[in-house]
Order: sequence, then structure tokens, then C-alpha cells
Amino acid sequence: TDIKIRRALLSVSDKAGLVEFGRALAGYGVELVSTGGTAKALREAGLEVRDVSDLTGFPEMMDGRVKTLHPMVHGGLLCVRDDPEHAKAMADHGIGAIDLVVVNLYPFAATVAKGAERDEVVENIDIGGPSMVRSAAKNHAYVAIVTDAADYAVLTAELAETGGATRIETRKRLAAKAFALTAEYDATIASWFAFADQGERFPAALSVPLKRAEELRYGENPHQAAALYLPAGPGARGIAQAKQIQGKELSYNNYNDADAALELVSEFRDGPPTVVIVKHANPCGVATADTLIEAYQAALACDSVSAFGGIIAVNRPLDGPTAEAISTIFTEVVAAPDADDAAKAVFARKKNLRLLLTGDLPDPKRPGLSLKSIAGGMLVQSRDNGAISSGDLKVVTKRAPSEQELADCLFAWTVAKHVKSNAIVYAKGGATAGVGAGQMNRLESARIAAWKARDAAEKAGWEQPRTIGSAVASDAFFPFADGLLTAVEAGATAVIQPGGSIRDEEVIAAADQAGLAMVFTGMRHFRH
Ligand code: 5GP
Repeated sequence: TDIKIRRALLSVSDKAGLVEFGRALAGYGVELVSTGGTAKALREAGLEVRDVSDLTGFPEMMDGRVKTLHPMVHGGLLCVRDDPEHAKAMADHGIGAIDLVVVNLYPFAATVAKGAERDEVVENIDIGGPSMVRSAAKNHAYVAIVTDAADYAVLTAELAETGGATRIETRKRLAAKAFALTAEYDATIASWFAFADQGERFPAALSVPLKRAEELRYGENPHQAAALYLPAGPGARGIAQAKQIQGKELSYNNYNDADAALELVSEFRDGPPTVVIVKHANPCGVATADTLIEAYQAALACDSVSAFGGIIAVNRPLDGPTAEAISTIFTEVVAAPDADDAAKAVFARKKNLRLLLTGDLPDPKRPGLSLKSIAGGMLVQSRDNGAISSGDLKVVTKRAPSEQELADCLFAWTVAKHVKSNAIVYAKGGATAGVGAGQMNRLESARIAAWKARDAAEKAGWEQPRTIGSAVASDAFFPFADGLLTAVEAGATAVIQPGGSIRDEEVIAAADQAGLAMVFTGMRHFRH
């Protein structure tokens, strides 16, 4: 049923749109009650306002910590008007009903974002505001709660239609929005306390506020529904923050693949021009070169069959010629820090191609959590930001790697970190030569990668596969020598792997016998 608005309580930190809305309310003879700053703003605009301290009989006190926390306010918000006992309580204590509450909260997240001192952050935890929001939302049968300035116009229109009243459907919708706001607000505060203030890695309860940003057409499959959620707080960096310049809507799988591509290319953010081509969240070609277009061609040559319908990420602003080269085969998504006008013009002709601009690439070493849902629960771990440099490597064979082999080892290792386990990556001259991903044993990944490299050579008309004279990376130790022997057969001359198997000696002996140079990283990169 419609509820006529007789009294409204307004208490807002963000005063945008306040005066117009207050004036609209006053036009229907609504009594306006307000807290200090809000009352002042309304009065300055010539509106008649009653101070909340007049209503409560108490001054606003303790730096504003206690303004509206009073039975005159919360009784007026929470009373069930059709209940005789509630009505009697109101009459006995002279409590007047409040029909509309307009509140937005102290800007907690913005205060954190501007780098304020702890005291200021804590002072920006709104207490009375959320209390009013919750009281009004609970009692939506009678009370309308407005927490978003975007709803001022909606309500103004409803007032006009109903002659100064609110409808139950609207009050229900506003109540749902109000509880979503207080939940997000408290989750933001809880995660600030846990992560920023207490420096906890894994808080007892994980209340990271996530807001639905976008509904996606469907999930991994058409019969699954899906949506993208973004953290409410500041500071998140990644594919979810990229700006789409053109192309079809991003799908669930597009986001997943573009994430894999961007995370990998970000490893090369301080390196030479680099191109990553991803399919089904695995790289099928990665290369660095003097120019972006050369890097693209080298990445494509690794596995041009898989690259069809691929997701591409680059570590440099896209230029016209590279965009032109990319456009020659069907590509789903291109992610780049930026794109020049020529590149944009090339892609504009490919209406469906999604172009994402990311700005400066995120730091691969940044901390963070990675979440994976399992049936009935959630697994949480710190993100794999582990990185090694040549100084961390231990040469375990008689022969040490040459400079070129060492560079190829590190390149292959970086790529392998982003390949689903079991991961085997052959690389030569700053380009992948073969990628073996996601097999249930390491031997098969080594075989598949070598076999793919032979295929690529055949397709490109090369005399021999690029695994000849390559470095091979394994994301985890070789449990037996067989995987390594496959790499020897494929022509690899250098190996990079974590080490740590009980059969390390057997594997090292096999490497020595084949004249390989092998280095241990002491770190593994499972990715399942
Ligand atoms: P004003 O600018 O009107 O003085 O203050 C508005 C702000 O005060 C709003 O953000 C509102 O949520 C908040 N507020 C209202 N009542 C109380 C209270 O009793 N305690 C606290 N801490 N904040 C309040």
C-alpha cells in the first residue's frame, strides 16, 4: 500500500542533489528533519528544517558520534503502525512516525583511499547512519529508505504520481539496496581492519566486499548464468579494471582467458616488446622481439592452429602494423596498455574484436589473494607472485648454460609459471617453441610440446623444429628421467626446473650423459 510522506529525516555526507530533493519533498508539505550539516545546507537553500536535536531533546554530541541514536528517531522508524501496543508506546512517549529516511554514510572507503591517518579512518566509521538505514529498511512496510542519490529522481517521480506517497514495491526495492549498502560498508571496514590495520594474511572471516559490476550473457557454458563482481574498495589492478574500447560484450570465458594473457604479459612489463597468445587460459605462443609485430609473428608461429580465436595481450602500446597483422586471423580479444590511432582504426573494421586498454601493466610481484570455489567452500591462497632471477639458479650439471641458454631458460620458466600443470615449455631465442599443458603426467606434456613444435615447423616450412637447441622449463621437478629424455630427443640443450625429487640424481645423471646444462630454481609453479 502507499504510504503518505509526512515526515522525512535527511542526514547525508554527500550533499549532491540534496537541496532539489528536499525542495520536492517540501512541495508536498513534508516536514524535514536533519542533522547539523545537512540541516545547514537545506536552510541555506531557503527550506524550512527541524533539527534532529529538537526532535530528540538531546544536542548532537561527541564530535557527531551521537546524533540520531535515540528512541525518538528509532522509535519513529521501527514502529509497526498497525500494532496497538506500538501505537500506544508512540503515544505514551510522544514519538512521531518517520516515513522517509535519506542517508548516505561517512565516506570510509574514500578516507582510506586518500591515505588518511588511522584516527581519521576510524572516525569515518559511520554508526548512526547505518543504524537508521537498517531501521528504516527493516520497517519498509511503512518507511522508505533512500541511500543512493540516483533514487532521488525515481522518488520524485513517484511522489508526483501518487500525490506525495511511496509504493510498497519501491520501498522493498530500496530496502534490498539499503542492506546491500550496509553489508558492503561493514565488509569494507572489516577488511580494512584485517588487512591494512592488522596486516593479517588470512582473516578469520573473509569479508571482501564485492559488487556486481556486470551481468554476463552466460557462464562457461550457455546453460550457466554468470556475472562479473568487482571489489568495492580502491586499489585493485588487473583485467577486471581494463577499459573496453570496442567489440562485442566480453563473455565469461573471454574474461578468464584475457586474465591469463594479461597476467603473463605483465611478467614482461619491463622487458622488450612481448606478445602472448592464449587459448583456454593457456599460452599457445609467447615471444619477445625488437618490435611488437615481430614478437606477434614469432608467437603466432609457435602454434598458429591454436591461435585461431585466440586472446592476445601485449606489453607495449599497440601500433597500426601489429594491429594489421593480428587482424589477419580471427582473434577474440586484444589487451594492451594502450593503442595508437592507427591501431584503433584497424580494429574498428573488425566489429566483433574486443579491444581492452589496461593502462600501465600490473606489477607481477604484487601481493593479493587468489580464491577458488570448491563444492561447499572456498580455497584461499596468496597469489603466485613468486619470481626468480639468474642469481637464484643453481647449476646442477657438469656443463653450465651458455648466456643464450640461460636467457631461454628464464623465458621458458616465466611462461611455464602461467601454463596449467603439468607444464612443459620449450623456448628458443625469446620465443616459445612448444607448450605442453594440463596433462596428468609430465612425460606426456613433454611429448605433446615436442610434437607441437614439429607440427609448427612443418606448417611454417622450417627445416627443423625450434626445439632443436632450445631450453626446456618444467613447472615442477621431473619425478623420473623419462620426461627429460623426451626433451633431449626433441633437441633441447638446457633445462630449468625446481629440483627436489628423490630421483634428482638420476635426472641429473641423464642430463650429464646427454651433455645438457640444467639449473634448479628451488621454486615450483603448480597451476591447476
Ligand atoms: P551532517 O553533515 O548532517 O552533520 O551529518 C550527516 C552524516 O552523519 C551522515 O553521513 C549520517 O550517516 C551521519 N550520522 C547521522 N546520525 C549519526 C550518529 O548518530 N552517529 C554517527 N556517527 N553518524 C551519524
